[in-house]
Amino acid sequence: MQQNKGDYMKNNKLKDNPILRKRLRIIGLILTPIGGICLLIGFLDFFSRDMPTMFWMFFLGIFILFPGTVCLQYGYMGKLARYKAGEVAPVAKDTTNYLLDGTREELAKTINATRGLSHTIKCPKCSEENSKDSVFCNHCGHKLSILCRTCGMQNDADSKFCKKCGGGIEL
Ligand SMILES: [Zn+2]
Ligand SMILES: [Zn+2]
Repeated sequence: MQQNKGDYMKNNKLKDNPILRKRLRIIGLILTPIGGICLLIGFLDFFSRDMPTMFWMFFLGIFILFPGTVCLQYGYMGKLARYKAGEVAPVAKDTTNYLLDGTREELAKTINATRGLSHTIKCPKCSEENSKDSVFCNHCGHKLSILCRTCGMQNDADSKFCKKCGGGIEL
């Protein structure tokens, strides 16, 4: 009986060990929010500053979040779900590795492109991207914004009143 139990524990180290599962739950519950916060900090930093210095937080977040979710999966799920987690985890791991190694550059490019768009305005006439402070389109000369005659503030081309001084804008 004692030996049987020993063998059972040996063969099912992870599968049916309530203490280990409880630990995994605790680890998962600690790691997942920390990873999430790191991801969030990385993202917010990247999108809110011109010279992001904390983009590494994004990758750190993935590194922490991934084991955290795996721990939660193993800690909380039943027999069937555990089997599924065993199937999904290697795939998720590969995807994470792929993301980190292969597409890190692509990802940065994509995010940079998204950031770049927010710094430009599209000409409504010819669709040319112009820098946000352009008054006229550099491709077709279409008027993109109006400078307030009173205070010099740049306003959208269809503005009726200045967004800074509230003065009426004459076209
Ligand atoms: Zn244009
Ligand atoms: Zn004004």
